[in-house]
Amino acid sequence: MPEGDTIFRAARAMNQALAGKIVTRFESVLPKLTRVDEDAPLAGRIIESVTPAGKWNLIRFSGDLILLTHMRMNGSWHLYRPGERWQRPRNDMRIVIETADFVAVGFNIPVAEFHTGESLHRKPELRSLGEDLLSEDFDAEMAFENLKSQGNEEVGIALLNQRVMAGIGNVYKSEICFACKVNPFILLESLNEEQLRCVIETAQRFLKANVSQKSGSGIVTYTGFGRTTGRHNPAERLWVYGRRGLACRRCGAKIESKKHSHDARVTFWCPKCQPMTADSPQRH
Ligand SMILES: [Zn+2]
Repeated sequence: MPEGDTIFRAARAMNQALAGKIVTRFESVLPKLTRVDEDAPLAGRIIESVTPAGKWNLIRFSGDLILLTHMRMNGSWHLYRPGERWQRPRNDMRIVIETADFVAVGFNIPVAEFHTGESLHRKPELRSLGEDLLSEDFDAEMAFENLKSQGNEEVGIALLNQRVMAGIGNVYKSEICFACKVNPFILLESLNEEQLRCVIETAQRFLKANVSQKSGSGIVTYTGFGRTTGRHNPAERLWVYGRRGLACRRCGAKIESKKHSHDARVTFWCPKCQPMTADSPQRH
C-alpha cells in the first residue's frame, strides 16, 4: 500500500499540474463515475485542488464535485503531456482527466467515488477532515478554533488546508482573501477576530453560492464556473483570480499574482486593497 507521503507527493504533483486548469476531457471505465459525468459533465469545470487526506486522494472540481480515490495495492495516478505514450497498458486505465497541458491517468484504481462536500463529510473514513463549509452542520466556532490554531501559517496556505476547513480550492482562496481585504501572504496570527470571522463567513457564502445553481435536482452546476462577484457576465465572475495585470474591480490598482510557497499554487491579490500589514483596512 502506498504510504501517506507517497499519496501526498502524488497529490502535490497533480495539484501543481492541474489546479486552476479547466477540464477539457473526462473518461472512465467505471460506470459509477461516467453516470455522474453524463448528468453533470466534468468537461468545463475548473480543477480547484488536488489534496491528500490520509491515504485518499481528493480532486476538487468547481461546482461542488469531488473525486475521491484510494490506491490500495496497485493503483496509481500518472501525469502525462497530451499525446505522450502511457507507461501502463490501456487495459489498466480507469480514469482520465485531461486539461490543455496535462493528462492525469488513474491506473488500476480500485476505489473511486464522486462526492459533494456534504456527502464527503458523512464518509466515516474522512472524518478527520476539517469543518465542511458546505455541510448543513457546519460549525463556525469549530472552524474559527481550527483557523486560529494555524497562527504561524500564511493565510493562503491555511485556507487550503482541508483539516482546517474543508472545501476551499485555489480559486476561492484568492477570492476570499480579497473579499476580506486580507493579504494572502501574512501570517494568520496577525489577523484580528473580525478578519478571521470574515474569512469563514465569506468562504461559506462563496461556496454555497456556487452550489445553489443546482436548484435542488441533485445535479451540480453545468458551467462548473464559480462566481464570487455576483455578476452574470462570465468575464466578470471573479474578483482577482486569473486577473494578473488587470485593474482591481474595487480600486483600479493592478492585480498581482505569485506562486505561493513550495507547492506552486498561484495566488492573486490586489496590493492596494490587501496591503501586507497587520492593520489591513476593515471590511465594510
Ligand atoms: Zn484593489
